[in-house]
Amino acid sequence: MNTRDTLSVNGNGHLQIGGVDVKDLASLYGTPLYVFDKAYIKNICKFFSESIDKHYGGFGKIFYASKAFSCKEIYRIVGDMGLGADVVSTGEMFTALSVGFNSENMCFHGNNKSFADLKYAVENKIGYIVIDSLSEIDDIIKICKELKTRQKVLLRVNPGVEAHTHHYIQTAKPDSKFGFSIENGDADIAAKRLVAADCIDFCGLHCHIGSQIFEKTSFGIAVDKMTDYYKKITDVYHANLSVLNLGGGFGIYYADGDPKFTPEDYADYVKTVCERLNESVYKKGIKKPYLILEPGRSIVGEAGITLYTVGRIKKISGLKNYLSIDGGMFENPRFALYQAKYSVVAAERLQDKPQIKYTIAGKCCESGDIIAEDVFLPEMREGELVAVLSTGAYNYSMASNYNRNFIPPVVMVENGKSYLCVKKQDFNDIVRNDI
Ligand SMILES: *Cc1c(COP(=O)(O)O)cnc(C)c1O
Repeated sequence: MNTRDTLSVNGNGHLQIGGVDVKDLASLYGTPLYVFDKAYIKNICKFFSESIDKHYGGFGKIFYASKAFSCKEIYRIVGDMGLGADVVSTGEMFTALSVGFNSENMCFHGNNKSFADLKYAVENKIGYIVIDSLSEIDDIIKICKELKTRQKVLLRVNPGVEAHTHHYIQTAKPDSKFGFSIENGDADIAAKRLVAADCIDFCGLHCHIGSQIFEKTSFGIAVDKMTDYYKKITDVYHANLSVLNLGGGFGIYYADGDPKFTPEDYADYVKTVCERLNESVYKKGIKKPYLILEPGRSIVGEAGITLYTVGRIKKISGLKNYLSIDGGMFENPRFALYQAKYSVVAAERLQDKPQIKYTIAGKCCESGDIIAEDVFLPEMREGELVAVLSTGAYNYSMASNYNRNFIPPVVMVENGKSYLCVKKQDFNDIVRNDI
């Protein structure tokens, strides 16, 4: 099952997601609307988890990187599927904790966690805090002394592998805002401090080599470099490590040119990592670490679509056809941020030939407010529905109230039924904090 399976066309030529006609969803909940196929999310979680169980002897866990899509319901779903969660703010932590998510199975990341953030994490017994600067070590010690407790931590390092979509580069460039470079010795300084730190259990290492990655080579190289370093700080600094967190970054299909991955392909990624790790551990004589992987986009990205109603259509002869929709960069800023590509379909007329080239424009007061450029659709009419596909990751989670627009509601569908999991905003939400 991939996006193409979660989506289908019914006898009326309408798009269906999870067995529900999008026309019905639009009438029930209005547009713009984020829709997620719950069965798809659960299925991907299952494939990821089963693969780590099968190829790493069950000695590991998938932590959903919740910055991709965070709301109460997604923590319930991934929690029920036995996953942990990776969080990057107290807001994400609070959301997860508010639905009873097991705090032990959480990793807290970030390059600028404040004293208050760290205190919140320690108080709430978050499984691992991922160390990303030297002074936060001092803060954690202080907090633990005050609360008479201990805290488990991982050290975020840069292994010098950077992956981008179809390529990877091995770099020694230690200029990322995240983590400590192995290459220039910064990681050693942090590791030494952690070994000596009171109240801190220095449990392991973390890296995250990029996002929207399609080739396995970079993950293999990351395993090699991370296990080398794991061995070094065990041997040289006598750190008593037991955890290796290799981050996320598995790619998804957005538009022509991207590979189409199935859950089996994701399971295969995990298998590659596990096999390489088993091999490295054996060859280097390391005690087998507990493995954590943190996929975000690949769990929710293709599970989600966004429905819009077509508004004004502006044909600038010889130049462009603008098709304006009732959403925009306030609910999907990814084109504006990095020219992200999307597939767009005429959701009520999938049988009609796409023959006209459109630029899909949002309603914000900003020329750069585009959702997709150069997409082919049938001749469109005002009031019809369009769907943008693969919007499950980094859309709702990046939404804002720009131009005082309402953040759209989120709906889950499963087995032909739908339910609301984030309500639509209204005027009261818009002025809620205004004085
Ligand atoms: C963003 C991020 C992830 C998830 O990345 P995806 O590309 O969504 O899989 C995992 N771990 C860390 C530390 C991240 O910053």
